[in-house]
Amino acid sequence: MAQQINIRFYEELNDFLPQQQRKREFSQTLKKERSIKDLIESIGVPHTEISLIIVNGESVDFSYLVKNGDQISVYPVFESLDISSLKHCQSKPIRNARFVLDVHLGRLAAYLRMLGFDTFYRNDYDDPELAEISANEHRILLTCDRRLLMRKQITHGYFVRQRQPKSQLLEILKRFDLYNKQQPFTRCMHCNGITRPVNKQKIETQLLPKTKKYYDEFFQCETCHNIYWKGSHYLRMKKMIAEINV
Ligand SMILES: [Zn+2]
Repeated sequence: MAQQINIRFYEELNDFLPQQQRKREFSQTLKKERSIKDLIESIGVPHTEISLIIVNGESVDFSYLVKNGDQISVYPVFESLDISSLKHCQSKPIRNARFVLDVHLGRLAAYLRMLGFDTFYRNDYDDPELAEISANEHRILLTCDRRLLMRKQITHGYFVRQRQPKSQLLEILKRFDLYNKQQPFTRCMHCNGITRPVNKQKIETQLLPKTKKYYDEFFQCETCHNIYWKGSHYLRMKKMIAEINV
């Protein structure tokens, strides 16, 4: 027997809905029994974005089986509201935010590394690999592909809304409350390795003549051995970091 329910999505979950379903209650007809997670994802909202589901006034988890006449409210991850007494949907937040990014977010990956955040990125990771890395290494999966976030094994993921890399960086800092956790220039922007100060004599032969002449302070990546110094590129990044943190 077909079942009918009423559902409403709150706050930024509306980003995933067509205009006519945003910020209002709408009804759905179900032909077979299904879990609430399944229903919500069929409407287009990935489970990773959801923190709280209220059905007929009670909080439920993802396994709840939808029943005829249910009144459903779906809420995103709350920043400040304490919902610990309710049954909520997400596993505990990852304490030290670590990330894995999909292939389209290369610039954002470099920016996150610039601020010292542990960020896996390769331009040839496929979807199953990304999901696996996220699940096995407890890394937050950042992606612009909502289908990817609907993969079952992903517990920590986030759909990146912005399109400009710098705006994406601001979005992530805000969403995961990372402003106080930045450690700029401690990580290699190419490979995510840790960078440390290195003696000029040790790397002198690898420097271009002008770099050798004008700079004395150098850093090197422990993993790929890339060398960094405080040249024009560094100054540009420093300016960007200052802008981000106003
Ligand atoms: Zn490196």
